[in-house]
Amino acid sequence: MRQVDHFIQGGSGSGSGRTHKIWNPSTGEVQAEVALGDAALLDRAMENAKKVQPEWAATNPQKRARVMFKFKELIEANMQDLAELLSSEHGKVVDDAKGDVQRGLEVIEYACGIPQVLKGEYTQGAGPGIDVYSTRQPLGIGAGITPFNFPAMIPMWMFGMAIAAGNAFILKPSERDPSVPVRLAELFLEAGAPEGLLQVVHGDKEMVDAILDHPDIAAVSFVGSSDIAQYIYSRGTANAKRVQAFGGAKNHGVVMPDADLDQVVNDLAGAAFGSAGERCMALPVVVPVGEDTANRLREKLIPAINALRIGVSNDPDAHYGPVVTPEHKARIEEWITTAENEGGEIVVDGRGYSLQGHEKGFFVGPTLIDHVTPEMESYKEEIFGPVLQIVRATDFEHALRLPSEHQYGNGVAIFTRNGHAAREFASRVNVGMVGINVPIPVPVAYHSFGGWKRSGFGDIDQYGTEGLKFWTKTKKVTQRWPDGGGDGSNAFIIPTMG
Ligand code: NAD
Repeated sequence: MRQVDHFIQGGSGSGSGRTHKIWNPSTGEVQAEVALGDAALLDRAMENAKKVQPEWAATNPQKRARVMFKFKELIEANMQDLAELLSSEHGKVVDDAKGDVQRGLEVIEYACGIPQVLKGEYTQGAGPGIDVYSTRQPLGIGAGITPFNFPAMIPMWMFGMAIAAGNAFILKPSERDPSVPVRLAELFLEAGAPEGLLQVVHGDKEMVDAILDHPDIAAVSFVGSSDIAQYIYSRGTANAKRVQAFGGAKNHGVVMPDADLDQVVNDLAGAAFGSAGERCMALPVVVPVGEDTANRLREKLIPAINALRIGVSNDPDAHYGPVVTPEHKARIEEWITTAENEGGEIVVDGRGYSLQGHEKGFFVGPTLIDHVTPEMESYKEEIFGPVLQIVRATDFEHALRLPSEHQYGNGVAIFTRNGHAAREFASRVNVGMVGINVPIPVPVAYHSFGGWKRSGFGDIDQYGTEGLKFWTKTKKVTQRWPDGGGDGSNAFIIPTMG
């Protein structure tokens, strides 16, 4: 059995002695085991990080950027291998896995510009003979705790910005698909990063708690489900750390009567069922406005859904692959049953799906549920599977209220040809990221990512200038160089700069 070890300089030692199994979701077999770490193991990693970080912070930003440039080259050279490894543990198809790597790489590209984005502000002559400047300094050692569904992208969102800004970084990836994060750390070392700068510790709650309680970790970035995000936020901030914690989602796609329905169906098929619906920016709820729009949309959705091709993750023709674990498959199917019991109409039923030749794989067929209402538990909660729910809205205001009042506020989309409606929707909806005729509005790397309400705890978003803000603190310096002649200043009175 293949063993996935921590990536800690100087050897990982034993850790907790516990392990976690890594499935191959396409075959339903256990393909590897990952060692789970404990507080003692984290301490060892922290010793390495503490040794290396001051020197890294003192390395000029141009030299730090060169490591990022080299890392980018190595990722590109290893793209196929990374995507295949990712896909074999996660279950998403290989082309989608490449997208996972690519969207992380784009943050590395942004981090290549660190000398430019880290430049401070300077005011000459802020008072008589006085200049003021502010600079951004690294926090020290940061940690990232990441979910299973983007094992390449989300770690790179975090450590790309943190390390470029001068921090050392401890990554605690999901124990369900930990191999790609380790591979990224190996490539980072190969790119010229000093030993101990980026280390990977595996684990579950025991390791997460050790991170949250470690006195030398200055900041924690988390992405995962909402209850755990809230726990991370509470415990981390109680320990006086800076914390950003992004949670679950239930993104809605509002379809106005004037929308191009063929385009909408095409967009929805990918956004609801791509990656088997295991994306925080998936679109699992569609909100057609008006009965006529709902009926027309439903008629077009059914054949599109029936035409979806499900396959093993390395099948180049598959639209989507298996879900991540047998427990997750069971949970998704339970949600479909819950929706049925609550009065939803199961129009296309993906329960009990089996792929010929891969009967043990964790496949769930695409599912369409109509007449879903806001009172239903299956609407309120995240299903995180290939399940699309139709919630019929009477008019624009009703459609606007649905995502605005939902507990999650990650992403939302509106499909329309009416600029006024789109503009009104984007400005009023109570959700963090909005797509206008764009089904998956994940902002590009030089903007920032972050949801609202129970999709995001903390005030600072991921990557872009927000990421820079999260991983640095500003120092404000006020200076004067008196010439010895006395300038009449009097600190008994609070300085007012004249
Ligand atoms: P998860 O919450 O189960 O796990 C996330 C991380 O938390 C993992 O590293 C895991 O080891 C750790 N963890 C698990 N249980 C814990 C516990 N009891 N205490 C402390 N730590 C614990 O999430 P997941 O299933 O890996 O990922 C899917 C979830 O992540 C979905 O809810 C999805 O919407 C969300 N997600 C959100 C975003 C976003 O940006 N908002 C992006 C991707 C995924």
